Amino acid sequence: MLRRFQQYIDGAFEDGSASFDSINPANGEPWASMPAAGAEDVERAVQAAHRAFLDPAWAGLTASQRGKLLYKLADLVAANADQLAELETADTGKIIRETRSQIGYVAEYYRYYAGLADKLQGACLPVDKPDMEVFLRREPIGVVAAIVPWNSQLFLSAVKLGPALAAGCTVVLKASEEGPAPLLAFARLVHEAGFPPGVVNIITGFGNDCGRVLTSHPLVSRIAFTGGPETARHIVRNSADNLAYTTLELGGKSPVLVFDDVDVDSVSNAIVAGIFAASGQSCVAGSRLLVQRGVRDQLLAKLVAKAEAIRIGDPQDSATEMGPLATQKQRAHIQHVVAASVDAGAELLTGGAVPPDFEAGYYYRPTILACPNSSIASVTTELFGPVLSVVTFDTEAEAVALANDSVYGLASGVFTRDLARGHRLTRALRAGIVWVNTYRVVSPIVPFGGYGQSGLGREGGLEAMLDYTRTKSVWIRT
Ligand code: NAD
Repeated sequence: MLRRFQQYIDGAFEDGSASFDSINPANGEPWASMPAAGAEDVERAVQAAHRAFLDPAWAGLTASQRGKLLYKLADLVAANADQLAELETADTGKIIRETRSQIGYVAEYYRYYAGLADKLQGACLPVDKPDMEVFLRREPIGVVAAIVPWNSQLFLSAVKLGPALAAGCTVVLKASEEGPAPLLAFARLVHEAGFPPGVVNIITGFGNDCGRVLTSHPLVSRIAFTGGPETARHIVRNSADNLAYTTLELGGKSPVLVFDDVDVDSVSNAIVAGIFAASGQSCVAGSRLLVQRGVRDQLLAKLVAKAEAIRIGDPQDSATEMGPLATQKQRAHIQHVVAASVDAGAELLTGGAVPPDFEAGYYYRPTILACPNSSIASVTTELFGPVLSVVTFDTEAEAVALANDSVYGLASGVFTRDLARGHRLTRALRAGIVWVNTYRVVSPIVPFGGYGQSGLGREGGLEAMLDYTRTKSVWIRT
């Protein structure tokens, strides 16, 4: 018997106009029935969000009252962490250790934006006209279409809902069709927190169907998207209809630069966590290792030993260190690119295969490829999987050129004991995030986003909240 989930529209839980089975990536079997929102469901959700935006039950709340609702939501997320983590693990295959620890961040992000709700201010402008009083009001932008991919759905929606709701917007959130269970369960917490009907609507369904209708809807004023660059292009074309203000958090092929002067053991731990956490299905995965020649062999030997020691297993088991990939399609893509890279001259140092005893489900071994140059497919293509591609360099200038030789520019890492070099590289690297002697740390206070084809706009921090508002200039003759 499949577990049944419902969508959340205008404060009510309901089935979608159609449904689909969600697959457990650990065994390839259907485990839950999900509502698939069609055009009519999207229409009702957007209309509900539009009505709620104007309704005094929401529009009449003070900023601190909105903040209190968000604090309550954060508490509910924290109190239901185990259940949310188990659902995310069941639907996406991400290991329970990671889903549990990420829920802590989810609550933290809601708390951060709860606290910011009453900190946004307008301004008085000193125009050169003595008989005029001019001020700026900051107003919520309107109905937000928030669209998230399957990895880290609770987290990636918190970075949208938190600032949007704190600013006074209303939201239609589209969960990914690959693993929507945690967000559909989260809808129950939104309801319990007491947000007025229509303020938050949570649906799921297929991109080309419900995603397209949502992003081109005339009542949507703001699109907040996280996902792949191809989908982003569709969304930008579709939003030509409503000209909604759009932010895009897209893919990456993040370089990690390692210089000869490092402590190899501690750096190897950071590199392994940077690429193999979440089975490599992370937008900031450190998937391109650029290593200086003098330390190359020693570092690669450590990395191979550590990759081979990763405990693969059932993602619901807290002893498991790596679970399956989220979908069969994802694994097939990785297998194809790894094979093409080996054909083109890359050396397979470890992995490159389905682990023995894990034929059911979508498992793939942690893989390391030594690449003769940076035009190998595994170096240029975002794989979204547990594959580390290694390229060797001799000089700092060469390392910078290799690092910046990508259409992407989301994150980057630098490992060196030379502080001056660390500073030089923070200026030289074209990426929205530079981590020096650390990797993959985030905080709600710090903006997050990419250069180049890694996206437009920023999430996190105050900057992100301003993006859910617009200013109104008021002129008063005195
Ligand atoms: P995807 O682009 O295939 O799907 C993302 C979402 O977009 C899904 O909800 C999907 O249903 C929806 N969608 C698909 N077509 C649509 C359309 N025409 N209109 C509107 N919505 C549509 O991405 P994915 O495969 O689920 O996720 C992986 C990608 O997400 C990777 O490229 C990864 O790097 C990126 N990502 C980026 C970040 C970041 O913060 N920069 C974080 C996580 C993932």
